[in-house]
Amino acid sequence: MAGVERLCPFQCILRRSRELNVRGLKLSQSVVSDTWEQPLRPPDSIPEHADVVVIGGGIVGVSTAWFLAKQGVDVVLCEKGHIAGEQSGRNWGWVRIQGRDKREIPMMQESLRIWDGLKDEIGEDVGFTRGGCFFTANSDKELASLEQWLEVAVDYGIDSHVIGAAELGEQVKGAGIQWKGALYTQSDGRAEPHKAAPAIARAAAREGATMMTACAVRGIETSAGRVSAVVTEHGPIKTSTVLCAAGAWTSMFCRSLGIDVPQLRVRGTVARTAPAEQVLKGNIFDAKLGIRRRQDGGYTLAHGSVLEHPVTPSSFRYFRKFLPALMQEFKIVKLDFGRDFAKEWSTPKSWRLDASSPFEDNRVLNPKPTPSVLKDIRKNFAELFPALRDTPIVESWAGMIESSPDVVPIIVADECLPGFHIATGFSGHGFGIGPGAGKAIAGVLTGVDAGIDITDLRLSRFFDGTPIRAQSSI
Ligand SMILES: Cc1cc2nc3c(=O)[nH]c(=O)nc-3n(C[C@H](O)[C@H](O)[C@H](O)COP(=O)(O)OP(=O)(O)OC[C@H]3O[C@@H](n4cnc5c(N)ncnc54)[C@H](O)[C@@H]3O)c2cc1C
Repeated sequence: MAGVERLCPFQCILRRSRELNVRGLKLSQSVVSDTWEQPLRPPDSIPEHADVVVIGGGIVGVSTAWFLAKQGVDVVLCEKGHIAGEQSGRNWGWVRIQGRDKREIPMMQESLRIWDGLKDEIGEDVGFTRGGCFFTANSDKELASLEQWLEVAVDYGIDSHVIGAAELGEQVKGAGIQWKGALYTQSDGRAEPHKAAPAIARAAAREGATMMTACAVRGIETSAGRVSAVVTEHGPIKTSTVLCAAGAWTSMFCRSLGIDVPQLRVRGTVARTAPAEQVLKGNIFDAKLGIRRRQDGGYTLAHGSVLEHPVTPSSFRYFRKFLPALMQEFKIVKLDFGRDFAKEWSTPKSWRLDASSPFEDNRVLNPKPTPSVLKDIRKNFAELFPALRDTPIVESWAGMIESSPDVVPIIVADECLPGFHIATGFSGHGFGIGPGAGKAIAGVLTGVDAGIDITDLRLSRFFDGTPIRAQSSI
């Protein structure tokens, strides 16, 4: 019987179990990337009119739509690809207040309250738990630098404190490194990015919001100097109020309207392990590794000191504004002179609204993880947690983080074009604050005071001579 393998029963079982393993691995490999690898679902039809149109189905857009719908506002959300297909589904999943800029604290405090009640309110578990957050220090100098943030914590009644090596050792089991200590906030949390924004989007739809995927917004129409419609690839929607929550695309979208939003991108490579022994309940940021315990019993891992910036024409355009951020992060930002320069160079600055736009050409910004960074993540994980060194990495991906010059969000209420609002620049920490941002923005759009002051997040701070002081990007 040529060509047919003759296997003894034992070999058959072995082979079948290998196939099962491989199949099992394949299934588990796509837990996170399923968010953006599923088939696109364009809308059957689009509404003619809406009170508010939200551009972008990330955590900021869906949270805003949810809060608006709960207030009875007729809101339509347009997402060019998938809900949470870009940053909001690819991030580390940290929900932290620790280390944030003062301007973000009230919004983040509100966000933590929303995360706490989310499961009960929307009836879906997105993996939120308050597992605590540690920023580790390897020297007294580093510890003293982390300690400075406690002034903010005291001002806002946050439970952060500095802990020494002994307490850290009790909280984090089996570390293969003797840290000096850490900045620690027990009430900080974590959630599952591939679950959160899609679950909030479903909740918004149940409250009456229209959520449309595969629906790129090409531009805006104005009448008498204010917004009168958005033009989508499936046709126009009349509206007087638009929120642009377009993540890494905001600068380009706004530029086509003549609005200058300084924004640059950095690529982050991320990995996920199989379930393994619990060595911590929350998140640790160390110079070598960012690590978070996952709801499925595994860990989400990233390099603690590598962010890759694809150099583009925007890098030169915004160089001066980003100089403070670059100087602060110069040790960890690696410049990548790859294809992105030519790609951005050849993208038009404006386009016709009755033909395909750059947003349809790139439905999902899906950068590839960098192999050398993945290798370092694997090595650093084994060094930091020797007992987990054999834990398999079952999935890896990358995400394009968008940043503002001072690494703090930009929330623009009607500043540049009447009826046109912007929420962007969440700068590597917008997942945790997303629900709070949604509540604050919905308040601005409806005139209902959400009790969250966002005046210091105005776009004009980058143009009116206000000194640009960059916060840390983690
Ligand atoms: C690797 C990585 C790690 C991170 N880690 C953390 C973390 O641990 N904690 C944390 O708090 N934050 C983290 N962040 C940051 C966080 O993910 C972002 O700040 C947050 O998700 C931003 O949400 P967003 O809704 O503003 O943007 P996005 O999630 O990027 O959503 C914007 C959406 O707009 C859509 N869009 C753009 N243009 C158009 C158009 N013209 N028409 C229709 N749709 C359009 C896009 O397709 C996209 O889906 C991380 C980010 C990355 C990439």
